Amino acid sequence: MDIKDLRINGKRLRQSLEEMAKIGATPDGGVQRLTLTDEDKTARDLFVQWLKEIDLDVTIDDMGNIFGRRPGIHDGLPPVMSGSHIDSQPKGGRFDGILGVMGPLEVLRTLHENNLETERSIIVVDWTNEEGSRFAPAMVASGVWAGALDKDWVYQRTDINGKRFEDELERIGYKGDVHCHRWPVHAYYEYHIEQGPILEMEGKRIGAPKGILCLHWYDIYLEGEANQVGPTPMEGRHDALCAAAEMILKVNQLPDAMGGNMVATVGEIQNYPNSRNIIPDKVHFTVDIRSWDDTHALKAWERLQNEFKTIARQRGCPIRIEETWRVEHSPFNEQLVQRVLETAADLGYPGHYMVSGAGHDASYMNQVAPTAMIFVPSIGGRSHVEVENTTWEDCEAGANVLLHCLLKSADE
Ligand SMILES: [Zn+2]
Repeated sequence: MDIKDLRINGKRLRQSLEEMAKIGATPDGGVQRLTLTDEDKTARDLFVQWLKEIDLDVTIDDMGNIFGRRPGIHDGLPPVMSGSHIDSQPKGGRFDGILGVMGPLEVLRTLHENNLETERSIIVVDWTNEEGSRFAPAMVASGVWAGALDKDWVYQRTDINGKRFEDELERIGYKGDVHCHRWPVHAYYEYHIEQGPILEMEGKRIGAPKGILCLHWYDIYLEGEANQVGPTPMEGRHDALCAAAEMILKVNQLPDAMGGNMVATVGEIQNYPNSRNIIPDKVHFTVDIRSWDDTHALKAWERLQNEFKTIARQRGCPIRIEETWRVEHSPFNEQLVQRVLETAADLGYPGHYMVSGAGHDASYMNQVAPTAMIFVPSIGGRSHVEVENTTWEDCEAGANVLLHCLLKSADE
């Protein structure tokens, strides 16, 4: 058989995705597989079992990253890698992350059953805690692996119930004995759903992002003065929630005020004591700013900070601002991006050159290895929700692009 005619098994890929979707399934068709929970453990166990079934060398490092390696002819050459994440948002979908783990697994199954050898080793990886919704921030394990984040800092992160990252990693039995550390990688591909509406709007099947927007996270803490709502006159109140409300609208107006080329969002808020008859005296909310232009995003933040401080002063609500996390915008390796587009064209799939608005482990991988991503359409552009969906045909198409990109990189 001509290697060009090789295709992955779309039916088997679908079965694997459906099997995984049962773990943490929600009543409305999504999944809840928060990182380092029992559901995460169950899904990891199944993944490891599947890796072993096709004789891959399985390694688990002390960040809980799982690697399955298929040795190449020249084991000394830097390997080719592909992966994503098994964890999900609290009410997440059945494709985000897991498609990028099942996709390369399906590629390796295809190579295995055809007894195909490659020059370089190929590694499939599941990165721990990509989502960052249980333990902030996101993408921590690829961040530690790439040397961009400190492992002990990540270990100390706590969830909303005060549980430590490291303790939970140990509890589910995935604190491996291998030191989490990068090694030379020849090429890294991450296969993912688009999580936006562009491919569907353009009528294209495969997206090749030129890179990922910068990602800036902030945490805002406001203090007010609690009091009984009835007897306390409106004048002289220090209502922390009202201060937050004004600030949140400033965030929403920020991209317009800055002339576009960015998005800004408040997605999380905690109000205390959260009682209908007490004036709120404590509020915490988050700010997320993304742009292709880091300087533009930082200027926007300067402006926003000043607005926040003015509102805090006017309302008599002291403000504390934490600059939680910044990842610079990440332009991918242009050669690999072109390879994704060419491979899609060779397979007869219309491709589209674009940007990624969502953060991915590929951001950190891009700091240490030539990196590219492969996107497939999200129906209705919806993601991080239970109705998140991608057609099986598109899942299969993306995996075929991944197969041939991996083969090209593994044989050069
Ligand atoms: Zn994802």
